[in-house]
Amino acid sequence: MARIETPKRIRGTQDIFGDEQRRFAHVLDAFDRVRRLYCFQRVEIPVFEATGVFARSMGETSDVVSKEMYTFEDKGGDLITLRPEFTAGICRAYITEGWQQYAPMKLVTSGPVFRYERPQKGRFRQFHQLDAEIIGAAEPAADVELLVLADQLLHELGIADGVTLQLNTLGDAETRDAWRAALVAHFEAHKDQLSEDSLTRLEKNPMRILDSKDPGDRVVADSAPDIDAYLTEEAAAFFKAVTDGLDAAGVNWTRNARLVRGLDYYRHTAFEFVTDRLGAQGTVLAGGRYDGLIGNLGGPETAGVGWAAGVERLAMLIEEPTAGSVEVVVIPMGDAANLKAQSILAELRRDGISADMAFRGNMKRRMQKADALGARYAIILGDDELARGEAAVKRLADGTQQSVPLDDLCDAMWAQITGDEFPDAVTTVDDEVVKGPFQP
Ligand code: ATP
Ligand code: MG
Repeated sequence: MARIETPKRIRGTQDIFGDEQRRFAHVLDAFDRVRRLYCFQRVEIPVFEATGVFARSMGETSDVVSKEMYTFEDKGGDLITLRPEFTAGICRAYITEGWQQYAPMKLVTSGPVFRYERPQKGRFRQFHQLDAEIIGAAEPAADVELLVLADQLLHELGIADGVTLQLNTLGDAETRDAWRAALVAHFEAHKDQLSEDSLTRLEKNPMRILDSKDPGDRVVADSAPDIDAYLTEEAAAFFKAVTDGLDAAGVNWTRNARLVRGLDYYRHTAFEFVTDRLGAQGTVLAGGRYDGLIGNLGGPETAGVGWAAGVERLAMLIEEPTAGSVEVVVIPMGDAANLKAQSILAELRRDGISADMAFRGNMKRRMQKADALGARYAIILGDDELARGEAAVKRLADGTQQSVPLDDLCDAMWAQITGDEFPDAVTTVDDEVVKGPFQP
């Protein structure tokens, strides 16, 4: 008989569980809380789009489009791509859904994105992004608002200290053309030192050489001319308004004149929040202004600015969140008690009290399970208790125990959990009567 091969997880994908999952959820919770404070609406968009949505917006020569997209023909013969990011899809939605009527729009989303890259620490093929965008606002105040939001998120996650905001401007079209010409002249003069990849970039998109990680390229890139000498008055004023806004809001930033983003669509503001705690995968959050993008996709000329953050990278940086604990564990001993436990559990949970059951092994094992779950109380149902129409409720922090009539159980638990005492209860420690209700 043929052996059935055990299935494998696809390289670069993840099964997220336990501590990792708690970290992940903590990042998403913080993001949702902060985005509400800033009045950003959440949108949900498709996981896949027509390939052109990404190719036309991100640029055919960008790493993502040229090497990293999961693209396939579907059964109808259409060319489909799994989203490698959110911005392009949100802009596509803005056009197809007629969202101009709501502009300016402050939007967030989050979820899985897909890139065919070499997997390593902090780099996956299916990973997750948080995404925030402001569409239809050309004012530098929009850039500032997004950056302040990002900064607050990092503070709420407790990681702001180890992360630096690096900021640059890529200027307007006129600035870029002049700067680009100066860069080409510089790179042409140092052609012999450039990597194979950068020679191709020189032909297609010379600015991207500044983003190269190749050590040889770095030397040439680091001595390349800054954009500053080429900034038009408008572009310089825009950048100043952004940095002034950040200063006013109390957000720390540093200028990185070498910072260009890997995608074609950026104008004016470009930024990355970077840490040295994740090795080569040190960028946790990145973005910029993309005023040309919606026009490029065939929509009306619309300003836009946004960022995306890697959930996994943020999750790796934060402190381990405490595991959620359960209030009550029900411990039935015996067949009659098993059935009664079902009804008590259902009632507790319907009342909004988190509860679980320990139904295996001897009493000691069951109590160990209650401890492992972090429960505050154990409700013990033995034959004797049941016969008396009572349950034994044990407070696990100090082992005090009392008998509670089954009919009052939910009310009594609720009172106890919310800080009140049990009514008319008798407290015992190791079967010895101490006095009235639980002592705090
Ligand atoms: P990198 O330089 O690390 O490849 P990038 O410039 O390609 O990043 P963006 O396209 O700006 O990244 O995506 C935004 C964020 O998504 C990054 O700052 C990073 O936190 C995260 N990210 C990007 N690619 C991956 C990946 N393959 N695995 C995990 N997280 C990623
Ligand atoms: Mg990348």
